[in-house]
Amino acid sequence: MNRKQKEITVLGAGIVGISCAINLQRLGFIVTVVDQQEPGEGCSFGNAGMIAPCAMIPINSPGLLTKAPAMLLDPLGPIAIRWRYLPKMLSWQFKFLQNCKTSKVEQITDGLSELTSGALEEHQRLAANGAGATWIRPSPYLYIYESAAALASEEFQWRLRRDRGITTRVLHGNEVQEFEPAIDSRYQCAVVMEDGHGFSPDPSQLVKALASQFQSDGGRFIQADVQQVEIVNQKPNSLITSEGSLALQRLVIAAGAFSGKFATQLGESVPLLAERGYHITLKDSGITPRCPIMNSAGKFVTTPMNPGLRFAGLAEFSGLTEKPNYHFAKRLLAHAKIMFPKINLDDFTEWMGNRPSLPDSLPVIGQSSNFEQIFYAFGHQHVGFLSGPKTGRILAEFIAGQKPSIDLSPYSIQRFIKK
Ligand SMILES: Cc1cc2nc3c(=O)[nH]c(=O)nc-3n(C[C@H](O)[C@H](O)[C@H](O)COP(=O)(O)OP(=O)(O)OC[C@H]3O[C@@H](n4cnc5c(N)ncnc54)[C@H](O)[C@@H]3O)c2cc1C
Repeated sequence: MNRKQKEITVLGAGIVGISCAINLQRLGFIVTVVDQQEPGEGCSFGNAGMIAPCAMIPINSPGLLTKAPAMLLDPLGPIAIRWRYLPKMLSWQFKFLQNCKTSKVEQITDGLSELTSGALEEHQRLAANGAGATWIRPSPYLYIYESAAALASEEFQWRLRRDRGITTRVLHGNEVQEFEPAIDSRYQCAVVMEDGHGFSPDPSQLVKALASQFQSDGGRFIQADVQQVEIVNQKPNSLITSEGSLALQRLVIAAGAFSGKFATQLGESVPLLAERGYHITLKDSGITPRCPIMNSAGKFVTTPMNPGLRFAGLAEFSGLTEKPNYHFAKRLLAHAKIMFPKINLDDFTEWMGNRPSLPDSLPVIGQSSNFEQIFYAFGHQHVGFLSGPKTGRILAEFIAGQKPSIDLSPYSIQRFIKK
């Protein structure tokens, strides 16, 4: 390849874009990353930081349709919809429900499992003992339930995990509080995973450290709002940005929940929506759990972070442009008090992030079907932080003309293109 053929631009400096950039750089490409913000300020900023291979279970599940109304009506429930947004998401919802059949969920779990397996090692390999490595911690991961019956109601999901090699240990009664004394005694059942799991004590700092490493190794970062991919003679010619136009040879679109508009410009419309999640980080909670804890009923994770104890989760459907609904986020505070009765809730920060979600819970990773110089890496919904590094590696392998370490066909954009 000559110099021009080695030039590639990555749109998006979240965990997915930066992972693509570093992996491409390691394969000899000359890489420019463009983002309207500093690296790690989008959805990658405030997530729960979990690097958990067990997260390969999609939110599509066979019983979801019957459970959803109760979840929506529960004042502490994990889901909210802005009703005026409902008509706009009907077609997404329809496709989502089609993917809730047992056979589909098994298939999606296989696709996600390929991306989530070895996530901790993938993160360590990406950081390669650089500054990023200090933001990665191996750790057990605990799922808590109020009763054995509540755990049994999720047997389908636990069976999917066990079938794909996740090792679990179940705790009963006081064993839960012996494992983590701060948890209230109402939680009488738990599952602990100890192998291959971990978390980041500050996901944004991890992305920023990786971005600095990318720049020290010769990568270029440009802060600009990208408006359009300009196509000339059936080839990408430039990115039209707030800072002027940037010449393009090849392009990776990794703009998280904002990627849909670029795919549409390129004639490949995808049903991507923002599944908004929230966090509350308590600066001085007075509680120091030994590891991250998933509250399975509340669908949120408690992670001991450097900025404080973080409660992150919830799913709100209201589009990309609405202001955050921090009233909804306060449910996390109520849950925090139930889970840890001695917790101090006085001082906290709150945040909202747009999970990029497709109705089959699988991302789009691979080549555009219209332009051979354009590639996609977006739509990682709940697992983008943990699966970003592997996504970057397999896409870079593909772009470099190597056989990717895993089959890319489940993630192809072709699945959304009407034939
Ligand atoms: C509450 C919550 C908890 C979560 N917990 C976890 C977890 O524990 N583990 C996990 O794996 N995942 C988790 N996730 C999901 C995870 O955060 C996302 O999947 C991941 O961050 C997506 O990364 P990304 O790089 O695709 O997107 P982003 O991080 O959003 O990056 C996209 C970038 O594109 C840029 N961009 C967009 N449009 C433009 C434009 N026009 N011009 C220039 N730049 C542009 C944005 O500025 C942004 O920096 C969680 C999400 C939420 C909301």
